[in-house]
Amino acid sequence: MDYISTRGRAQALDFMGATLAGLASDGGLYVPREWPKFSPDEIAAMAGLPYARLAQVIMQPFIGDCLSPERLLELTTAAYGRFAHKAVTPLKQFDEQQWLLELFHGPTLAFKDVALQLLGLFFEEFLGRESESGTGQNLTIVGATSGDTGSAAIDAVAGRAKVDIFMLHPKGRVSDVQRRQMTTVLAPNVHNIAITGSFDDAQAMVKRMFNDEGMTSRFNIGAVNSINWARLMAQVVYYFAAALQLGAPHRKVAFSVPTGNFGDVFAGYVAAQMGLPIEKLIVATNVNDILHRALAHGDYSAGTVTPTAAPSMDIQVSSNFERLLFDVGGRDGLALAEQMAGFEKTKAMQLTNAQREGAAALFTSASVNPNQMAEAIRWGWEAAGELLDPHTAIGLYAAREAGIDPAVPVVTLATAHPAKFPDAVERATGHRPGLPARVGDLFEREEKLDDLPGDYDAVAAYVAERATPKA
Ligand SMILES: *Cc1c(COP(=O)(O)O)cnc(C)c1O
Repeated sequence: MDYISTRGRAQALDFMGATLAGLASDGGLYVPREWPKFSPDEIAAMAGLPYARLAQVIMQPFIGDCLSPERLLELTTAAYGRFAHKAVTPLKQFDEQQWLLELFHGPTLAFKDVALQLLGLFFEEFLGRESESGTGQNLTIVGATSGDTGSAAIDAVAGRAKVDIFMLHPKGRVSDVQRRQMTTVLAPNVHNIAITGSFDDAQAMVKRMFNDEGMTSRFNIGAVNSINWARLMAQVVYYFAAALQLGAPHRKVAFSVPTGNFGDVFAGYVAAQMGLPIEKLIVATNVNDILHRALAHGDYSAGTVTPTAAPSMDIQVSSNFERLLFDVGGRDGLALAEQMAGFEKTKAMQLTNAQREGAAALFTSASVNPNQMAEAIRWGWEAAGELLDPHTAIGLYAAREAGIDPAVPVVTLATAHPAKFPDAVERATGHRPGLPARVGDLFEREEKLDDLPGDYDAVAAYVAERATPKA
């Protein structure tokens, strides 16, 4: 399997190359040249597999020869062995039609652990291998986080040889739990930077660094944001896991996905391309609803970010939407490069008819306001005795409003543990969720971070001073 860029110019790479590169050199994102397909019989045969084995079966066609089946299974077993639930992503019934897929049983309490625990192992494996062939390299990971990617990535790479991580978060706009999960990791290869500005400002600086010759000629810069294909690949697995439990391939399932960067829900799109029968993918956004406007009206135009109680979705520019536009728009990289260049200039673009129709076949969307979010947190508590985090609540609200055929089960992805966002949960229900024992004495530990202005040159200089240059 090889990987091509959504902007048509960068060299194709194998899985290892795409994993280490993150963003393509032409500014595009890597996608597989074609979607691997499973037949209904092959899907039926996956029922009942343990999660680590299911992950190996689903990911192997994307990885090809870069990892043997035996080695890949060792890595998935190690990554998912760190989860606090044996099912890894347990499925819970909420009411007759609604289900919750709990993706927060990893070490940092959000779904991002599912992909990043594995990505940390892929980095170690591939960097170790490169050094055997004499080209031994270090990786300088530069990322922006609205809260959960940062903690999950830091947990996944802290203390690993050959990797330095620089994580930018928007100062004051992540929850205390989220910040402490990043800043209390004192390993010397971990560098936390609080940026004055929004998540989009931080992400724009990261994207700029990937295209900054001065930096890329000196450092091997890698990505842990969901621009890294390996993350999306790992997330495809739990769509299969949930649907298999609800009767796939013989019965269709709908998914409602609290969405920011369009990564998690794009993994659902990939599952559908691979043959999983999906009725609808519901894109649930908060009031930062560029994706809802794009899917409902073809209008992809970025406004300013409104901070909300669901900060991991406080995003106006959704990187992974480009992957969808590429796939449904006929996979014409050069045309998409032009469309994206227009967007980067004006912060607005119209979807083409092909893009709109292609997306409408599988996606529907909703924008959920703070009152509706709080109402859904209360439903969870009053109807099912469940404390829902604000992101999950947005998904559940959209799921119930989407008008899905009552015979089709709807699975909301429960993307974070409620204790990660205790204030919003307490405001809605009067109950304050407690941190699970596995996060330990988070509020007692020392923090390590640096403040920087929202200025690219300052960030680049900070990284250049501390990163390990190319060999
Ligand atoms: C990252 C995150 C999201 C959004 O996921 P995307 O892949 O960026 O769409 C939703 N909920 C939580 C809790 C998250 O951490």
